[in-house]
Amino acid sequence: MSYMKALKCRECGKEYPKEALHVCELCFGPLEVAYEYDKIKGVLTKEVIEKRAPNMWRYKELLPIDGAPTVGAQVGFTPLVKADNLARALGVKEIYVKNDAVNYPTLSFKDRVVSVALSRARELGFKIAACASTGNLANSVAANAAAAGMESFVFIPSDLEQTKIVGTLVYGGTVVGIKGTYDEVNRLCSEIAGKYGWAFVNINIRPYYAEGSKTFGYEIAEQLGWKLPQNIVVPMAGGSLITKIHKAFKELSILGFVGPVTTKVFGAQAAGCSPIINAVKEGSELIRPVNKPNTIAKSLAIGNPADGYYSAKVMRESGGWGENVTDEEIIKAMKLLAETEGIFAETAGGVTLGSTIKLLETGRISRDESIVICVTGNGLKTQEALTGKINQPTIINARLQEFDDLVKAAGKEYAVKA
Ligand SMILES: *Cc1c(COP(=O)(O)O)cnc(C)c1O
Ligand SMILES: [Zn+2]
Repeated sequence: MSYMKALKCRECGKEYPKEALHVCELCFGPLEVAYEYDKIKGVLTKEVIEKRAPNMWRYKELLPIDGAPTVGAQVGFTPLVKADNLARALGVKEIYVKNDAVNYPTLSFKDRVVSVALSRARELGFKIAACASTGNLANSVAANAAAAGMESFVFIPSDLEQTKIVGTLVYGGTVVGIKGTYDEVNRLCSEIAGKYGWAFVNINIRPYYAEGSKTFGYEIAEQLGWKLPQNIVVPMAGGSLITKIHKAFKELSILGFVGPVTTKVFGAQAAGCSPIINAVKEGSELIRPVNKPNTIAKSLAIGNPADGYYSAKVMRESGGWGENVTDEEIIKAMKLLAETEGIFAETAGGVTLGSTIKLLETGRISRDESIVICVTGNGLKTQEALTGKINQPTIINARLQEFDDLVKAAGKEYAVKA
């Protein structure tokens, strides 16, 4: 049973059948999934949701598939961590980390969008999964396609982190490294999607893919006891996640699960690729593409973001704002999160926390309001960013005397048995 009504143009409102379409033929606006909320209201309650298994499909009435999910049945319901140590370090009252660094199966939020996209792709009769990726999507498409018995073609910029390349190749699909930026990869993939007719999760079936991100927002609200945070900080690449978290909050409000949406939504990017933040800071509606992104946050390095316009709008209209951070600030924030909360986030997490720190310093976020920061990927995948930036282990021979000398040199008193 599906509550999907149609695909609907975000600009002119024209409705389309629920097929593999993504652009309006009248105005070239992006298409989005529309639902029958009245009917959903009749069947979905907080109690029904709470009785279901702890994965993202507990909100299935609000997701764009007709039958049961056939890909990624275990994805989601990652921890929302009340980060009291981090709160003390930042001097804030209440901060939470939504931790998709431990999402199943490929340790990033992309498993959410991929499981929805590929479940829908199979309903539409596709046999081959494909994507243009900055890394995490590559991992997720390759893994989830393998588990679903689908063939996969994954296209990436050839200079990605080695771990993200290995973490794609291992699943046995075809991986193509393109000598160029993500935006060049994406342009090529649009041509390939048109010619070969495969399910490119973030191109020709993007409206379904994007809906998967809503579950990140539903989970935050449920884990806060069906409350919305006063502030949320979200990392942005193409700008889809940030708009869908806001859509999720609005839907929960429509269903009466939470009150009116007053959450201020903040976006975060790396200084070396900030097309959306630049527009927000300039007060411009126009997103000027960044031709040559240059940042260690490769997962966010999209110079021409598909949802840039809409994400800037969400920040503006919610009363939020945006910030960006240098590579040094990214690393500093990654270390702070690890040292205070024991969470090893990838570079994108450093972007989010680093930007949060700046938003606090400039007073854009108030220190006595609740804050959720979104950690969307795992630090084990971007280890080279830390090369030369963290301490090396102390090497000694396997002799107690050498260890005793070490302890002495540290200058700290440790009790020893008599
Ligand atoms: C893809 C990605 C994002 C952002 O995704 P968009 O929806 O394109 O803005 C954020 N963090 C990580 C780690 C990602 O891989
Ligand atoms: Zn239109």
